[in-house]
Amino acid sequence: MLSQIKIVLVETSHPGNIGAVARAMKTMSMTSLCLVNPKHFPSAEATSRAAGSDDILSKAKIYDTLSDAIADCHVVFGTSARIRTISWPELTPRACAEKVIINEPGKTTAIVFGRENSGLSNEELDLCHYLLRIPCNSQYSSLNIAAAVQVICYELNMASQQLINPVSAATEQNQDSWASKDQMEQFYQHLHQTLLDIGFILHPDKSATIMRRLRRVFNRAQLDNKEVDMLRGILRMSQGNKRN
Ligand code: SAH
Repeated sequence: MLSQIKIVLVETSHPGNIGAVARAMKTMSMTSLCLVNPKHFPSAEATSRAAGSDDILSKAKIYDTLSDAIADCHVVFGTSARIRTISWPELTPRACAEKVIINEPGKTTAIVFGRENSGLSNEELDLCHYLLRIPCNSQYSSLNIAAAVQVICYELNMASQQLINPVSAATEQNQDSWASKDQMEQFYQHLHQTLLDIGFILHPDKSATIMRRLRRVFNRAQLDNKEVDMLRGILRMSQGNKRN
């Protein structure tokens, strides 16, 4: 179950932090590490800080973009030390672990961590369903990235150990039907184009807020394949295409 949860690090600057993240993961039985455009990797410093968890480093997958790293994921959490002015639905690590492990097991999940100096951009958070914030001292809330990974993986591991009922067969069967991140991105592009075509959005440059709100609506709904197909059928007809 923990193997379906990817830890995704975006543009990490210090290779030592990547090693420390691998160590934090391994202590909590997590295995899947994804690196988006790391500044230095592979690196002797990363291996040295991994201290025996270098199997996680050698299996780490490297991507050019965050979209590529999360393309196959059904649920994506973006982590942040800061309270953002735009409000994404926010969870604590414990609530996230309950959701992922106990309430909705079986979904391929990503937990995304930002750059050491600037975190994740709003555009990157737009790709996430939820914001995950570790409640901290309000005067000093920024953890080292590996410490943040440790806290979150601890909660995931605790939740997985407390799980009494095994994942039901029905949940296992249904997991293929959830819409992937890729399908949802294509849906959002189609929705955006349709809103332009029907004149709801007048200027493509001024559509960011509307699209962000609409993403929040549809991300809350957790669509499956058939629902996405149906909505795209409605979009096609709104664009003037007849049913064939
Ligand atoms: N200066 C950055 C902080 C980066 S810390 C900023 O203002 O956003 C590096 C990463 O560690 C963050 O992007 C986030 O992924 C994680 N992190 C640090 N503190 C956190 C916290 N309190 N809650 C959740 N994630 C945190």
